[in-house]
Amino acid sequence: MFAQLALSLCLAAGAPAPRNIVLFIADGAGFLHYEAARLHDEDPTGRQVYDGWPVRLAMSTAPLGVQYDPQLAWREPDWCDRDATDSAAAITAMTTGVKTANGRLAVDPQGVPVTPLGRIMAAAGKATGVVSTVPFTHATPAGFAVSHADRGAYPEIARLMLGDGDLDVVMGAGHPWHDDDGRRCDVADYRWVGGAATWDSLVAGQLGAADAGYWTLVSTRAQFRALGNGPAPRRVAGVAMARETLQEQRDGDPLAAPFAEPRREDVPSLAEMALAALNVVDGDPDGFCLLIEGGAVDWASHDGRLGRMIEEMTDFNRAVEAVLAGLDERGLLGETLVVVTADHECGHLAGPVPAYVFLTGEHTNSLVPLFARGPGSGELVARAMETDPVRGPYLDNCELGATLAGAAAGLRSCRTEGPAGSNTNTGRSD
Ligand SMILES: [Zn+2]
Repeated sequence: MFAQLALSLCLAAGAPAPRNIVLFIADGAGFLHYEAARLHDEDPTGRQVYDGWPVRLAMSTAPLGVQYDPQLAWREPDWCDRDATDSAAAITAMTTGVKTANGRLAVDPQGVPVTPLGRIMAAAGKATGVVSTVPFTHATPAGFAVSHADRGAYPEIARLMLGDGDLDVVMGAGHPWHDDDGRRCDVADYRWVGGAATWDSLVAGQLGAADAGYWTLVSTRAQFRALGNGPAPRRVAGVAMARETLQEQRDGDPLAAPFAEPRREDVPSLAEMALAALNVVDGDPDGFCLLIEGGAVDWASHDGRLGRMIEEMTDFNRAVEAVLAGLDERGLLGETLVVVTADHECGHLAGPVPAYVFLTGEHTNSLVPLFARGPGSGELVARAMETDPVRGPYLDNCELGATLAGAAAGLRSCRTEGPAGSNTNTGRSD
């Protein structure tokens, strides 16, 4: 074990540091979520989205105080369904290398804030941003950028994300005036955007500061698309005209086959938002770091909506393809670490292929896939020192976090210690 650790650290020390990092997270997506989307979306040539990626691993997501057990996980499938992480603890592990209690965003088990990846990269002078199919203040995008002991404190988290000068891009749902079908509401709900005063000053172009820049608000699909090319504002808040999800909560039969129900045409796809975000940050001479989340994969999985889950995974995969093409066009592929993974599995999706069913409505401890390419991706292989009998080599989500945070801040190791019983998971978590 020591020899392997030494090898890992040597590789890390000798590896070229990525100038840019793009972290894609399909929230709630295990191996079969990816597989179900692949089967539905199969190209006639058999081409797959992640063909040719040099790093293909599995990742454990078990919460503080629990360790993934590859024998129990397959011998007693119920084992995976107990004591799983929530998205807050998972994103904390992935952006800091520190395991913490559920509900906490970049705050360790003792309650001490830990600097998350977005802030590390911003401190290194890089442009940073988050993009999601759910409100940008939800746990996964929030844990990239801010420390907060309560992931549910949405208005305060929104104000931190929009107010402290670190982030250059926030994009997602959360519009105060539009529901999940785009209808104008009679009463606004400002919880996802920091309250009425913050929203009003964002609309007026007065949110921000002279040195950090003022936020430019975009909301319509045409505005998002237009941002994909050409000159871009310095800081962009993209709040699509949807309250909680871009597509997943829209009207129509939620149990229909994928893409059988009409899609909303007035909101951007995740790919359109991601390309807009890339265009905002790509001019920074120091580089950039983006987190791009397929957040509603998790929502569909909690609700057992297989068709909508496949829609969300397809939207996510399209975003990965679009960003890779965008990086290639800009000549940035060779200096960008791209990682695609999940924060945890949700729903215990099971076969037989392709007639999948969800066995629970909760998160599980099943391994999730991890694909990576670009400078620094070899370190992830070196850290994958455990082997699952079905999924093969795997690393832990805090090892991914240690790698990503270390890419900007020097070598890091995982921190998995905490007070006994500090995993506070109870009942359903998001
Ligand atoms: Zn969830």
